[in-house]
Amino acid sequence: MNKESKHALLKEAFTARHYQSKLIKSISDIVTDDDTIPDIADPEPDTPKLYGRIALLTGHNEKQPGAWIKDPSLRESEFTFYNKVFDIVIDRGLDNVEFKRFNRTYGGGYTEEINRVYKEIDEFNPTFVIDGHFNGGGGAYSMVMYYQQSKISRRVADAMSVPFANAFGLRNYNIEEGKESIPALISGENGYYSMVKAKCPSVLLEPFFGDHLQSAAKVADLGHKGYASLLVESIKLGLSVILSD
Ligand SMILES: [Zn+2]
Repeated sequence: MNKESKHALLKEAFTARHYQSKLIKSISDIVTDDDTIPDIADPEPDTPKLYGRIALLTGHNEKQPGAWIKDPSLRESEFTFYNKVFDIVIDRGLDNVEFKRFNRTYGGGYTEEINRVYKEIDEFNPTFVIDGHFNGGGGAYSMVMYYQQSKISRRVADAMSVPFANAFGLRNYNIEEGKESIPALISGENGYYSMVKAKCPSVLLEPFFGDHLQSAAKVADLGHKGYASLLVESIKLGLSVILSD
């Protein structure tokens, strides 16, 4: 080290010490013996309350990925689409909510796949299960399905259906009079087993048809991020039903 830089360093060290002592002096001027100094070693307990542990179950599996979104700018299966959307939801998070994504593995048929994945889901011990799908067949309506016997799941599904139906501008079968049997899953229907297998409120999302052109265009327009935002809005409504139960 040459003389100049040594001198500069010493000057810097002196200046720092000078300001430090000035700062200590001004703090001792402010704080008198009478002042109550908060005890920083013993802070208020602020462990956040966990409002929910949500299992995000991607519909279908890698080999049989389900229906397709048929928009020129977004051609994706249910399996691919929901894996991406769920990862965005997990990445963004929600205060006091723990999310985990689950995937069915191919083999043995639907019942076996559900049995296998629910072993993992049960270990996670969720307060709420969301099975993510969209429909195929060109229909122009929206719904969130539930196990017919679960009153709480029905109320959660009805609440969750609103942001989707509104955003897509579709008829909402959850709240439409006379159509209430459609989102209620009965034995033998697609998705029924996943819903009854859950030991907590559960819903099966079917908010649009991937091959209904306007709906497909809307999904493409929203993108995975926009759809994830919609899902989070919907989840907040569903959670508020569970928490007020
Ligand atoms: Zn599906």
